[in-house]
Formats: sequence, C-alpha cells, structure tokens
Amino acid sequence: MEDIEQKFLDQILATPSPSGYEQPIQAIVQEYAATFAAEVKRDWHGNLTAIVNPGGSPRIMLAGHCDQIGLLVKNIDDRGYLWVHAIGGWDPMILLGQGVQVWTKSNGAISGVIARKPIHLLTPDERKNVPEIKNLWVDIGAANGEEARSVVSIGDPITVQLGYRPLRNGLISGPGMDNKVGVWTVMTAARRASKLEPRAAIFATSTVQEEIGLRGVQTSGFATDPQLGIVVDVTHATDCPTIDENQYGRIKLGQGPVLYRGPNVNPRVLETLERLARAERIPVQINALATAASNDAAELQLTRGGVATGLVCIPNRYMHSPVEVVSISDLDHAANLIAHFCASVTAESDFTP
Ligand SMILES: [Zn+2]
Repeated sequence: MEDIEQKFLDQILATPSPSGYEQPIQAIVQEYAATFAAEVKRDWHGNLTAIVNPGGSPRIMLAGHCDQIGLLVKNIDDRGYLWVHAIGGWDPMILLGQGVQVWTKSNGAISGVIARKPIHLLTPDERKNVPEIKNLWVDIGAANGEEARSVVSIGDPITVQLGYRPLRNGLISGPGMDNKVGVWTVMTAARRASKLEPRAAIFATSTVQEEIGLRGVQTSGFATDPQLGIVVDVTHATDCPTIDENQYGRIKLGQGPVLYRGPNVNPRVLETLERLARAERIPVQINALATAASNDAAELQLTRGGVATGLVCIPNRYMHSPVEVVSISDLDHAANLIAHFCASVTAESDFTP
C-alpha cells in the first residue's frame, strides 16, 4: 500500500458517515479521486463517482457504500438527555458503555456517552434484560433541556467514537469498517487500474444510504448505466468463536478477499476474477450465496436491462460493532484484483452467462 493510499484509509476511518450524512466523507473521497480520475462527479443524492478513461468500452461500475450505521437525535428531554433512533442495524447491547459524537449543525462535534444505571442498582431481572434502542439515552453533560437544545438539534446524526486501533498481524479494529474499506477498495482499484492502460471506462462510485435500504446504488447505477459491475462490501469472517462454518462458510481474516458465487453473481465475471487471481498470485476465498445479496450487489444486478455483477467482499469480524476487525492485506489484494479485472476487459468481452 502506497503512502497516499494509507493516508486515504486513515482519513476515511476518522470521518463520520452515518447514512444521509455522507458529505464529510465524500469530500475526502473527492480529494483522493482528483489525484487519478479524469473526472469526478457528485449527484444530488450524494453519490460520488470517480471516472477513469471516460470514453472507454464497456462501462464498468465499481460500487462501495460509504455510509456507516449510526444514531439520529429524535428528542431532547427536559433534563438534557438525547433520545435516539437507529440508523441501520445495531445490536443495542453493544452500544452500552460507548463514547459517541453528536455531529451538530452549528456547534461541530459534541462528545457524549451511552450507558445505563450501575450494576449495583440493577434488579436481578434487569440484569438479564437485553436493552432496546428506545431505552437508551445519550448523555452530553448538559445541565438541562434548554442547554442541550442550544447545541444539539433534532435530526443531528451520532456516531460511536471514530478511529481505529492496530492489532497484531496487520489487523485493524474500529467502527465503520463496513464499508469504508469498500470505498477504499473501489477507489484504489480505479487508481491502480488507471496505470494499467484500461480500455474499459471505469466508474468508481462511493454510494450513499446502503445501510437503510441499498438506496445510493439505485440512483448512481441508473445514471452510470454500466454493462459490468463489481460491488465491494464487507462479509462475515467466521474465524472467531460461536460462528457456525456449516451455515456461514469458512472465511478467515488475512486469507484474501471473498469472491461470492450464486445467482446474484454473473458466473463469467466470477470466472474472470478467479483466473486473474491465479495469474497474479492474489489469494482469494470463495463463499456461496443462494439468495440476492443483502448489499448493493442486489440492486446493481437489476439496474436497467441487467448488469453482469461480481461481488468481492472484505472479511470482517464483529460487523456492525464499534470494534469491527479487518486485515489490511485483504483490502490491498482486493484492490489489485479489481484493478486487473478492469484492465482485462475489452469491448469484445462477452459476459453472457
Ligand atoms: Zn455494508
């Protein structure tokens, strides 16, 4: 990974991007894209597309969603506590004891915490209860409702504390790996492909609002009108206790990106990815998916007259938590593989299944 690529990763992991509040991260993506793309486009939904070789053929769209799960301020009570709705799928259990930041309209980031009453005061029944989001509040230290309302507005988004910690063996842990690592991968794949004299046109899109219903890929996919698409998202690593490999497949961190096989994936796109992985000595893992994917691949495949779609995933432990774990080498390999895919496709390529 080059310095500029590492810097881009560090920056996006430190930047908030709850669904609907992606403009801060898109500003960073735009700066990175400007270093390699012939053109950078932003649409009024919020998607950002970096275009390499705009006049080429066919048109390949690389999609990684930039939004992360978060919370949204729903009410501020008279004691100054914030009550929230979830943006995306949280395990409420995991929010207890978290430091958060409220991204206010006019007062910048404000720190807060989520907790519950101390263990000493919990009744035996309460100790067994799993909390719901509606029972959690955010404490920003305000003296009362008036003070809280003077700095926080209804609808302000909230993230858990951003940034990441390095673990051993090139692993990193933090919130929002889902799917900032996907944005990193599609943009870096386009950057690396731009140096391989591609004949295809490459549209690398940082899509918005995936976590609330695969929304940004619908608008950006329609506008780009690609023949080929590769979606990059995270997938569950199954190499930690309590996950059944028979149900979820054998996926390990650091063993390469995961190529999915199943009806949501064009078999010839998959064959091409597998062939290139062998030729370039890029490690990959294969997993199966019997249904439509629960990510942007489901929508991209159905765009207009149908898109030959591939799904390349980054293994992720503890998805949708503040301590998601991924391997840097898996991102790096994924970006290389997709760059080679983009460089290998020509106007004569046929992806009829
Ligand atoms: Zn995702």
